Parts: sequence; C-alpha cells; structure tokens
Amino acid sequence: MKAVELTGKRSLKLTERERPSIQDDEILLKVHAVGVCGSDLRIFQNGDDRVDYPRITGHEIAGEIVEIGPEVYRFQIGDRVTLGAHMPCGTCHFCQANEGHHCVKGWSIGYQVDGGFAEYVVLPSLFIRNGSVQRIAATTSYKLACLSEPFSCVLSGLQELEVHAGETVVVYGAGAIGCMYIAALKRMGAAKIIAVQRSKDRQKKALEIGADIVIDPNRENTVDSVMAETEGLGAHAVIVTAPSPAVQNEALILARTTGRVLYFAGIKSVTDMPINTNPIIYKQLKIVGTHGAPRHLHMEAVKWIDQSLLDFSFFVTHTFPLEETEKAFETALSKEGLKSVVVPTQKK
Ligand SMILES: [Zn+2]
Ligand SMILES: [Zn+2]
Repeated sequence: MKAVELTGKRSLKLTERERPSIQDDEILLKVHAVGVCGSDLRIFQNGDDRVDYPRITGHEIAGEIVEIGPEVYRFQIGDRVTLGAHMPCGTCHFCQANEGHHCVKGWSIGYQVDGGFAEYVVLPSLFIRNGSVQRIAATTSYKLACLSEPFSCVLSGLQELEVHAGETVVVYGAGAIGCMYIAALKRMGAAKIIAVQRSKDRQKKALEIGADIVIDPNRENTVDSVMAETEGLGAHAVIVTAPSPAVQNEALILARTTGRVLYFAGIKSVTDMPINTNPIIYKQLKIVGTHGAPRHLHMEAVKWIDQSLLDFSFFVTHTFPLEETEKAFETALSKEGLKSVVVPTQKK
C-alpha cells in the first residue's frame, strides 16, 4: 500500500509498504478521508515525545472496514465508519471513570501507532474496545465524516464552557476549529458572536458561517471593540482557538464579571507564560481548558454530521490525493482556507 511516513522533523516520505495484516482482534480499515489536524502540523514541525520515526500520522479518519479478525463481533465488512483519536487503556483511573480521553497512557491513533495518511490503517484491539469507532449514515460522505474528531473536541469545549442561548461570545481565531465554534454557537442561539481574526480570507469565512462581527486586531483595539459591542461589560464567554500567547491574557480582559474563558489551543513550545490572575479573582471568572473529547461526544459529533445540523461542507476547503499529503500540510500551515483533507482513494 501507499503510505506517507513522517521520518523526522519536517520530513514526509511517500513510501510503498506491505498492506498490513491484522490479528484476530483487529480491524483493517481502508482510509477514504483523513483530515490534517493542527496537532499533525505540530508533530511535523516540532516532533512529539509520543511519536517515534518513522510514523504514519493522522487521526481524523473515515473509511470502510475491509477485513475483520474473527474475535471482533461489533462490525461487518463494508461498514462505513469514522474514528475518534484516543486509544484509552481501559484500566487506569480515568478510563475506569469513563473519561478515556484523559487516560494516563495518552495513546492515540497517529501517535504511538500508525494513523491515516495511508491507504489502509489497522485498528488495534484496545482502540476497538475503548476508543470510538462509529458507523456513519449512508448519506454522509467520508470527506465530511472525518470532521467527527475535530468537531467532537469543539462539542467538548462548548460543554465545559456552558454556553447559553442569548449570550455574547468572542471567538479568537477563525480557522477550521474557530469556524466550527462559530457555526455551533449560532445554532445554539448565541445572540452575538464576535470573531477576532487577522487574515482577510478567514474574516470572510467567519462572517459567512455565522459571526455577527469580525474584529481585525491589525486595525483596531480588540478590547475597545468588544467593550463597545457589549455596553462596556465584556463578553459572557471567550473561546481561544488561536495558538497565540499574546491573546491568552487579553481573553481574561474581554470576559465580563462572572464570565467564562475557554483555552482550546495549546502552545506546547511556550511553558513559562505569565498569566495575570487579577481578572480571574476580581471578576470571578471561570476558566476552563479542554483537550480531546470523550467517546459520547464523538458519537454526538457523528450525529451532527449525519443530520447536517451545520453545513459541514463549509469547513473542508481543500482535498488532496495521498501523493500530495505534503502539499496538504503546507496548505494548512500557510493558513490557506480551513480544513485540508487527504483522500487516499482519489487518484492524482
Ligand atoms: Zn485532530
Ligand atoms: Zn487509561
């Protein structure tokens, strides 16, 4: 099979590998779509202590089951499925508490085991048992189904942030994740959605998918503009999807008294950033962070996609054949469009 290996920092190699064989308790999936995630880009650029080379990355996967070991009962050959990313161990404290996305092992598809930038991917037994493998509707395309993983993370953020109808919400960053937040907030009845975004192209995208106002920090003062839009009170909730240290303190200023702030984008390279806790204390803010998503929210995300509760096709702006995976990475890195998806079954 064709596969794209990450062989070192910034080094992707298209290779020919044996089609993988499976154990009795495994599944072989033919990959039909795999999204390029911000975390794939981070691994590509900086490496990751959970990733050894060579590794096939990619965890936003949708595909068709083509082989099943005799000990797997839940699925059939031909099933069309989409996957979550986590591979919970099933036995640690968090797994026992039904929070496999916080598993102490931190195993994920595309990290410790090979992922989706290939024609086929093996689903390990642990993943089938404890991860999330969800069938998709016959009407759902693979290209949209692979959004189930990132969208489950968006749903997890919204749940932790406890957004209510009628609220004003600021969203930093209008990339794929930011736009998913904007679209979902609109659907949930947010009264005013304010996007903060520098790139003109993404400003347009934010407005198209439901933002009421876009602030361009290159041309205006974000704090002043948000205060002007909120009668000087600030926003009920602020979501930070932009991986920028500079906005992490600003987000605390934008939140009104008793407001909430969600930090969604990690900045792994920055570990000593000072946070001013005064706004948290004196405005009695609630601060949450989210990473990944529990299985039930991955199931929920699949429902949203199957039922077209949002226009999910809006988020996939680029598709590439497997041979052009590197181009897909470069496109995502250049912040062109929103989500880049690799479709291994699409010929060059
Ligand atoms: Zn992802
Ligand atoms: Zn665990």
